Amino acid sequence: MKVLVINAGSSSLKYQLIDMETETVLAKGLCERIGIDGHLKHTPLVGGKSVFNEDLPLPTHSEAIAAVIDKLTSAEYGVVSSMKEIDAVGHRVVHGGEKFASSVLINGEVMKAIEECIPFAPLHNPANITGINACIDVMGRDVPQVGVFDTAFHQTMPPKAFTYAVPYEYYQNDGIRRYGFHGTSHRYVSARCAELMGRPIEELKLISCHMGNGSSICAIDGGKSVDTSMGFTPLVGLPMGTRCGDLDPGVMQFIMNKYGLGIDEMLNVLNKKSGVLGVSGVSSDFRDLEAAAGEGNERAKLALDLFDYSVAKVVGSYVAAMNGVDAIIFTAGVGENAPTTRAGIAKYLGYLGCEIDPEANGRRGSDNLISTADSKVQLWVIPTNEELVIARDTRDIVSAL
Ligand code: AMP
Repeated sequence: MKVLVINAGSSSLKYQLIDMETETVLAKGLCERIGIDGHLKHTPLVGGKSVFNEDLPLPTHSEAIAAVIDKLTSAEYGVVSSMKEIDAVGHRVVHGGEKFASSVLINGEVMKAIEECIPFAPLHNPANITGINACIDVMGRDVPQVGVFDTAFHQTMPPKAFTYAVPYEYYQNDGIRRYGFHGTSHRYVSARCAELMGRPIEELKLISCHMGNGSSICAIDGGKSVDTSMGFTPLVGLPMGTRCGDLDPGVMQFIMNKYGLGIDEMLNVLNKKSGVLGVSGVSSDFRDLEAAAGEGNERAKLALDLFDYSVAKVVGSYVAAMNGVDAIIFTAGVGENAPTTRAGIAKYLGYLGCEIDPEANGRRGSDNLISTADSKVQLWVIPTNEELVIARDTRDIVSAL
C-alpha cells in the first residue's frame, strides 16, 4: 500500500509518499506561497529521478495537489506510474477537540466535526480542511482519506490535568480546557523508546521532550498521555523559538494598557516576538543563540539558560505527577541536534539519579541512549517521525475497511 501524507498550512502544503510494505519514503516535497504566486520543491528519493524546484502558479490548494500528483507520476520526477497507485491519503489535522481520541476515516460527519473545532485552531483547522477538500477534488471520493489529530493522543489526560481553574461553566459551555499538541510526535517517540528499551510500554513511565521551534513536554504513563505542557493553544508551557510559554495573564493587561495594544497585537507579540527570540533579541534559532552566547552575548546565554531551566522544571513536575520516571526522551530540531541544551537540562536531573554520558551525548545519529550505564533514569535521543505515524494510522484504518 502507498500512502500520501499531507500537512496543509494556510499557504503551504508538505507531503510525503510512503510505501507501507517497507515504510520507505518514495518522495517528499513542499508547496509554498499557495494563493500568492507559488513554488514547488519535489524530491524523489528512489529511482534516481530529478529534483523539481521551481516557481509555478498555485492559486489554490487544489492546484497545489494537482501539481504534486503531476510530479509524483511524471517520467522525469515521478516515483509511481499513475495516481491509481496511491491507495490512501493521511492528513495531519491540528485540532480534534474532545471529539477525536484517535485517527479516523474522513467522511461528511468527520468534516463537520473538524469544522466545529475551528474556533479552537482558527489558523490551522481551516487550512487542514482545505487540504482534505483539495485531495477529494483532485483524487476523487474513492481514495480513502484519514485524519490524524495533534490533540488526539492527549485525550487520555485525566480531568485534574486538563481542567483550568476558571469558572467551570467555561469548560462545560465552551470547551475551555487543556488540549495539548504534538501528540503524534509524543506518541511516536514514546512507542519507539519502549521498543528500544525492550520493555512493554504499559510498564513504563516516560517523559517526552519535543523541543523544536514549538516545544512541549508530555508525561506518558503506561503508553497514555497523562499531562502535557501546551494547553488550550500551543502558546503556553515552555518558552519557545518565538512563543512566550507560561505567563501571568496580568502581564498582558499591564502591557496592553501601558502601550495601547489591542488583544490581537498583544497575542502577535506573545506568538511571534517572544520566547528565546524575545529574551535574546538575537534569534529564535538555537544555533544562532549558541554562537552568540559563545561570543559573550549575555542575553543569548540567558535565553538558553531560561529554556533549559524551564524544561527541567516541567520534567520535575511530571516525575511528581507519575510518581517516577523510567526514561526521558529528547526529540525534534533542538532535542535531536543540540547536545549543549540536552546537557544543560540533564544538569538539573541529578536528584533523580540521572547521569548523562558526555561522549554518547556528543554522538550524531538516530535513536541514541545518552545516559550512562549506571544512570537510574535512561536518557534517549529519538528522532521524531510524525509522517510515519500518519501513514501507519492511515494504513491500519484503510486495511480494516
Ligand atoms: P523543528 O521545529 O523541530 O523543525 O526545529 C527547528 C529548530 O531546531 C531550529 O529553529 C533550531 O532552533 C533547532 N536546531 C536545528 N538544528 C540545530 C542544531 N544543529 N543545533 C541547535 N539547534 C538546532
